[in-house]
Formats: sequence, C-alpha cells, structure tokens
Amino acid sequence: MSLPTTPQGWAIRLTKILSLHQAAHGLPRFPIDVAALAQDFSRQVFPEAPITMVGGLDLSKGVEGMLMPHPSGSGEWGIIYNKAIRSPGRRNFTLAHELGHYLLHRQANPGGLQCTNRNMADWDSARNRIEAEANTFASYLLMPLDDFRARIKGRAIDIDVMTELADRYAVSLTAAILKWMTITDKRAMIVVGKEGFIDWAWSSEPLIKSGIYYAARQTVIELPAASLAARDVDMETGRHGVRHPAGVWLGSEPVHEMTVFSPSNDQMTISLLLYPDRAPSRRELAELEEEPTLDSYDKFMGN
Ligand SMILES: [Zn+2]
Repeated sequence: MSLPTTPQGWAIRLTKILSLHQAAHGLPRFPIDVAALAQDFSRQVFPEAPITMVGGLDLSKGVEGMLMPHPSGSGEWGIIYNKAIRSPGRRNFTLAHELGHYLLHRQANPGGLQCTNRNMADWDSARNRIEAEANTFASYLLMPLDDFRARIKGRAIDIDVMTELADRYAVSLTAAILKWMTITDKRAMIVVGKEGFIDWAWSSEPLIKSGIYYAARQTVIELPAASLAARDVDMETGRHGVRHPAGVWLGSEPVHEMTVFSPSNDQMTISLLLYPDRAPSRRELAELEEEPTLDSYDKFMGN
C-alpha cells in the first residue's frame, strides 16, 4: 500500500488503523493515545527511522514542542512537548502536531523542527505551509470529521458543547473551537486575548466572506473595552455570554460573545463570537452606517 502524502490522507490512514485496533481489543475509540500510536506505527512502517522518544522536556518559553532527530545520528526521532505546558489537552495536540511533522516533513528537515505556541494556531497555509499542515493533521487525527459532526449535529454551539468535545478528544478548548470553525457554515470568530490585547483571531469562512476578520497579527489591537474579554466578570457570566449590540466587536451587527478566562496563563482569554446567521445586505449595511442626524432629517422631510 502506498503511503499518504497529505495531512488529511495521513490522518485518515491512522484513524482506520486505530479504529480496528481499538475495536479488536475492546478499547474506547477516544481520546487517542498519541504517544503509543506514534511509537508503534513508526516502528512498523519506518523501521529505519522510528520514533523512540515521546515526552516532555524543558524548552524555552514560547516553544510549544519539537520534532527532534536523535543526536547520535541513529535515525531515531523524538516528538517533544514543553514541560512548562500544564494543560493535558495542549500537550496531546502538540504531540499530534509533531507527529504530523514527522510523517510529512522530516525528510525535508533532517535537523528537526521547533514549533512556537503561535505555530499551533497557524492554519493559514499561505503564511506557513508546514505549520498549517501539521495542525490539519493533528486536528483530523484527534478529532475525526465523522465523529465530530455526529457530536454537534442539531446542537446550538456554545462554550459548554466545545468543552465537552475538548474533553472527549483530549484537546484544548481552542483546538476544539478551531476545528468547529473550519467546518461550520455559521458566521463565527475566535479571539484569543492576552493581557488586554488581541493575541490572534480567526474567522470562519462564511464570516470572512462578509469581510469580518482581523487581518494581521503585526498590529497591536486592544480588546474592545465593552467586550466580556476586557471586563472583570465571573466565570459563569463569561461562559454563558452576552449579546452585544452592534459596534462592540468588528462589523455592524449584534454579536453573541462567550468568554473563558485563564488568569494563570498570561491573563489569557478565549472568546467565541457568534454573528447572526444571515449577513446583512448591502442596503441594510448602508442604512446602518448612515449618520443618525441624516436619518432624522430624512424623517423630518418625510422621505
Ligand atoms: Zn510545528
């Protein structure tokens, strides 16, 4: 059997093997044990370049994980996460991401690869192809599409549903939300805030089509002052969320914001923004953006 060449192809191949293996041994399908999978699979399929080291190391701040060749030149590989990361979900996603690099990129990068926490949110293949590929692989491996779709079918998406999925697949809340964002037909955005500023944000395809997205990471943008993310609210209020009038977040529409606070992690906030299903038409937008004074003038003149 020829080997896959794409991130999705690799994830589907491993998913098939895992399904058979778990069923044969009466084991649960999820979450996926990346460490065991990486070692067993690589030993069988690439005996000349097996993964023999999986685990945590003390890496520099900002480095999430790495793919590392054995220093002896034996051909063995290690997939590593930064021990400073406490979240089991992030560790698991990082290992899957590094396994993706191993399968797809080790030949082009014999010296290995080092990945920052920003790379873990790099889904734009034009900007960083190999990081986007490793993330796609990890996402499809840990959260297979058919299972993910079955779990969200007919449900209103909120932080509780996303938390449930993050637990099921042993991934971070961010990874579960990003997965949903790549497949949904809803107009949604995830905004990760750090110390009062937008660290990064990502819009779903339908929302990008409405022209609503934060373009670059280079510019420093404050979290909107009226947003939940910027306010001092309790966890419960944050999870449940608030319906903002137009003008708090990007665009001229009301937005439902739900926010999770992670004070231990650089004052990090994760906001899920849900925009109305239907984008306003050009005409409605023009009306929304009209000056209020002009509006009253029109009314006065009977227009
Ligand atoms: Zn990477």
